Amino acid sequence: MLQQTQVKTALPYFNKFVKKYPTLKSLSKAKEKDIMKLWEGLGYYRRAKNLLATTKIISKSKNNIPKNYEDFKKLPGIGDYTANALLAFIYDKPRLAFDGNVKRIFSRLLYKKEDTINFKKLAEKNKDNFFKFKRNSDLAEAFIEFGALICKSKNPECLRCPLKNNCKYFKSSKQINLKSINKFNKEKDYDIFCHINKKKQIALTKSNQIGFLKTFFLPVVKEKSKKKKQDWNYLESYKHSISNKRLKLNLYYKFSNQIPRNFQWQPLKNNKEFIPSFTKKIFYKLRNL
Ligand code: SF4
Repeated sequence: MLQQTQVKTALPYFNKFVKKYPTLKSLSKAKEKDIMKLWEGLGYYRRAKNLLATTKIISKSKNNIPKNYEDFKKLPGIGDYTANALLAFIYDKPRLAFDGNVKRIFSRLLYKKEDTINFKKLAEKNKDNFFKFKRNSDLAEAFIEFGALICKSKNPECLRCPLKNNCKYFKSSKQINLKSINKFNKEKDYDIFCHINKKKQIALTKSNQIGFLKTFFLPVVKEKSKKKKQDWNYLESYKHSISNKRLKLNLYYKFSNQIPRNFQWQPLKNNKEFIPSFTKKIFYKLRNL
């Protein structure tokens, strides 16, 4: 849950989640739609699917949680950062988890752009210094917390920072932004077409062509075109972000009792299905028509 999400946002979801699925075994038996419903609103839904797939794999192997980097990396959704974090947190292995927070600390200490630093090499080269106190799990966590609370992305607390005498960023007169990758890609424009019937239901499908929302319930979504939208009523245009994508959405609707192929009617209010925030926003905009 904490990948790309702050603790305060994830905490209520985490508490609900572990209450319902307190063990790996109980989670491995869960249905995907129930997991998605619990995750609803947290975003980055692939994490939920990967978590479920991972628990199923582990429970099939008699609850053998991997013990090394290579085996962790074979599990769905486990990349370099998570594999290292798990090795440090579970087994106290001498690993650092280079998330955005930790990368920022080193980038500022060295006064180098993040994409010019080889973090793997950096950890290897300095391992005797980093891990000499043999509190590897605490160290991995401390780096993450230090980046989140002291060496913050905006307004770092340099004056009370214990590293300031060795920090090139603090000593430099020009405290430039060292982040190399722009978090958001270029904005993309989409047209959304909603069929609504008299019972205040909307036609939705899971077989849509929108790669980043595949398998979720959506109305008709197409890349914006200049073609005249005959028979469609324009409602409004608005902005929406999903993961690192910025979208401009143009919303059209029409009242119809005919449902397109592969669609199903879903209620605009009190919907019991898992509905991503992209679609929920559309519900909200249409509900007073
Ligand atoms: S002195 Fe400032 S920029 Fe440097 S590590 Fe500390 S908090 Fe980060």
